[in-house]
Amino acid sequence: MAQQIKSPNVEKNNFKNPYFSVLGVLVIVILFTILWRPLNLERTVYVPLNPQAETTVTDNPRSPVVVGDGQIEMVDSKSASKQLTESSDIPEDEIAKDELDDIIDDKDNTVQYTISRGDTLHDILIRYNVNKNDIYQLTTKFKQLANLRIGQQISWTTDDAHNLQTFSWTISSNNIRIYEKSGDKFVESSETADGVPQDIVIKGEIKSNFVADARKSGLTSSEIGIITRALQWRLDFRRLQIGDKFLVLLSREMHGKRLSNSQLLGVRIKNGSKDYYAILADDGKYYDVNGASLAQSFVRYPLSKRARVSSGFNPRRLHPITGQVTPHNGVDFAVSRGTPVLSVGNGEVVIAKYSGSAGNYIAIRHGRQYMTTYMHLDKILVKPGQQVKQGDKIALSGNTGRSTGPHLHFELHINNKPVNPLTASLPISEGLTGKSKNAFIAKVKNIKSQLSF
Ligand SMILES: [Zn+2]
Repeated sequence: MAQQIKSPNVEKNNFKNPYFSVLGVLVIVILFTILWRPLNLERTVYVPLNPQAETTVTDNPRSPVVVGDGQIEMVDSKSASKQLTESSDIPEDEIAKDELDDIIDDKDNTVQYTISRGDTLHDILIRYNVNKNDIYQLTTKFKQLANLRIGQQISWTTDDAHNLQTFSWTISSNNIRIYEKSGDKFVESSETADGVPQDIVIKGEIKSNFVADARKSGLTSSEIGIITRALQWRLDFRRLQIGDKFLVLLSREMHGKRLSNSQLLGVRIKNGSKDYYAILADDGKYYDVNGASLAQSFVRYPLSKRARVSSGFNPRRLHPITGQVTPHNGVDFAVSRGTPVLSVGNGEVVIAKYSGSAGNYIAIRHGRQYMTTYMHLDKILVKPGQQVKQGDKIALSGNTGRSTGPHLHFELHINNKPVNPLTASLPISEGLTGKSKNAFIAKVKNIKSQLSF
């Protein structure tokens, strides 16, 4: 603020004595500070999206100012307190939700997870929205947790506020480590499973919907979650028909009455005349019967060329005036109007319309866990319900909605939570090859024989 008032006019004034100049500036600053708030309450203010520029606010509502690299966006102060993020304008209920979402969401307080390549405990727990302080406590106190191996199983329970209550790590069927919260610290104990893992096959038929019927057949929420995640790119579970069937092969181990370890070895879903398989490989991932990946790959950027990031992802961005946390849930790319915007993955367009703050915007759902949004577009080239492929031109970038300069605002949501699209771990789809493929094909034969109706 002070810098703007110390304009050339003030510096080149008639005061001979420099102290008078300083005094004059001070008086103006103080007066300005007192008067500024009430004066601006009903006026428009500029909110810099650049986190470094957060404290700079201009007193002139008519000329947009660019601070450093920052993209400055206009926010009407009347709605500032309730609607500052560009994405908050997306009405939640427009995106079709169903029971599958609830399972994949973090509403399920107990999660079972099989470690796969590239996983770190910290990243896994962050992805599931576990309280960061708990993650820190656990991983710094128990350094051995850095030794998780591919295929090992971990499970944890959180309370409704995402605080970690217990965490268990199955090193082998005979060696289970339990970390229980006591006070604000975690205490380690170990358990020996008394059971022998047993293969069981669970059979079911669609009578209402997959989740309900899978539950009725005896599958746990986390087992259902594993199935819907593994097959999310091949099969739309909402399109299963009454009379379709499923078979699930599990290796379950009991510790007393508690299910201490469960591994989903394979699943077969019969949709009409088509069969869908997901078979667990030694790397802890699921593949189809030919060893091809079930995962979907994403590209990092929704543009054909790299563009400068004018404002980064910042979930804790503070509004300079209200002092409230007003997250920037995406990344802004500085691109000129008319730049082609590309879908980062295969998916279905769920929203393609104009909205006040987001301007022309598109939301694409990729499988069950991922969603991307593209805002301030000049022209939308797709329609809701349309299937798009990775790299498809979906729009031309622009400057529509609450935006004062041409840019593309891009968001990535995993499990309905915005994440930093530039750093989030994205699925890579690689099939099995060589020795591991041969071993897998042999395993498939055995598992397939147990999955017959
Ligand atoms: Zn933005």
